[in-house]
Amino acid sequence: MTSLTTPSVTQEFIAREDQWGAHNYRPLDLVIESAQGAWVTDVNGKRYLDCLSAYSAVNHGHAHPRILQTMIEQASRVTLTSRAFRNDQLGPFCEELATACGMEMVLPMNTGAEAVETAIKAARRWGYRTKGIPDGHATIIAFNGNFHGRTTTIVGFSSEPSYREGFGPFAPGFVLAPFGDIEAVRALMHRNVCAVLVEPIQCEAGVLIPPPGFLRALADLCREHEVLLIADEIQTGLGRTGAMFACDHEDVKPDMLVLGKALSGGFYPVSAVVSRRNVLDVFGPGSHGSTFGGNPLGCAVARTALRVLQDEHLAERSAALGAWFLQQVQALSHQDIVDVRGRGLLVGIELRGSARPWCEALMARGMLCKETHDHVIRLSPPLVVSKDDLIWAVQQLREVFTTAAA
Ligand SMILES: *Cc1c(COP(=O)(O)O)cnc(C)c1O
Repeated sequence: MTSLTTPSVTQEFIAREDQWGAHNYRPLDLVIESAQGAWVTDVNGKRYLDCLSAYSAVNHGHAHPRILQTMIEQASRVTLTSRAFRNDQLGPFCEELATACGMEMVLPMNTGAEAVETAIKAARRWGYRTKGIPDGHATIIAFNGNFHGRTTTIVGFSSEPSYREGFGPFAPGFVLAPFGDIEAVRALMHRNVCAVLVEPIQCEAGVLIPPPGFLRALADLCREHEVLLIADEIQTGLGRTGAMFACDHEDVKPDMLVLGKALSGGFYPVSAVVSRRNVLDVFGPGSHGSTFGGNPLGCAVARTALRVLQDEHLAERSAALGAWFLQQVQALSHQDIVDVRGRGLLVGIELRGSARPWCEALMARGMLCKETHDHVIRLSPPLVVSKDDLIWAVQQLREVFTTAAA
């Protein structure tokens, strides 16, 4: 069907998008038409190995057949009821997700940023009602380099100028510590602190992995000071790092887990805060909500996505394939490679200069990845990727890093 199209078709789509769409992204110049598993196809019929997975939203691979089937069946039954009425997917979804997380309660939303906002609201109200923080004084400790979404509250405590510039005034109530520095967090502890909000691995900041023991120490510190630990596992959760959650690597159980992205297998925006009853019970009728949050289509799709994650042992796959892949990528040698780090199928190649030209060179060879924080290439293929595909990816990396002049 696409065999008669030419590269000028690509230019045509790009021109229309650039004219009619706001320019809040800088995508690579390919136009995807379809996708299956770990591979995508552009409008010219060229195939690419997806090594980004929509920022880990497509952990299950594109168009997973079981999730697709659920999507079609549920869409033909009922898609949206609003929470004004109940639906037959919400209860089972909450039970299955809470059980998978070893938690007691779920509050469903749609996008990741909404779930983070929900966690912030829950933590503040918990702080006032349970900890007795004076009204209006609840403080949340977050970290330099954080990425928790794009709402005005969230970008207000970002340390990244491009996320913030021109969007103030910002909400107060947030302080930042250097990521991975437990003593700095300890110094910020105060009776008005209600929560610490942390990404177990900072993906957007360039796949930054904190020192061993940091998450454990953070959990202990929070307990000692009666502070909630909120783990934003929107990108690291659901198998990406070779465990169900990145916190599992240090046996840390946060008070609130924030999930999104792969929660629906990439089919539909589904996010959630998963926590204990005594935290999520701060919400009563009228205190929070979302028209689409908890809708039957999203819940049904997420239920199947969770089951696929377990049935196909995607976390274990990520651990096994990721360990091999990291070793292969670490064996690359080029004067511009500063560091290679990763956990599971989440690998970052830190470069001396901009990562963009390397991503473009890889794209030309049929391998899709994207620079993050300018000088890091993030490699995060779908967790269903085959060993042969990864062998091929390593070959592309090897050729790009040996043929290209510095
Ligand atoms: C993507 C992401 C978010 C925001 O999710 P959206 O669905 O884009 O709003 C929040 N936190 C982390 C760690 C993320 O990776």
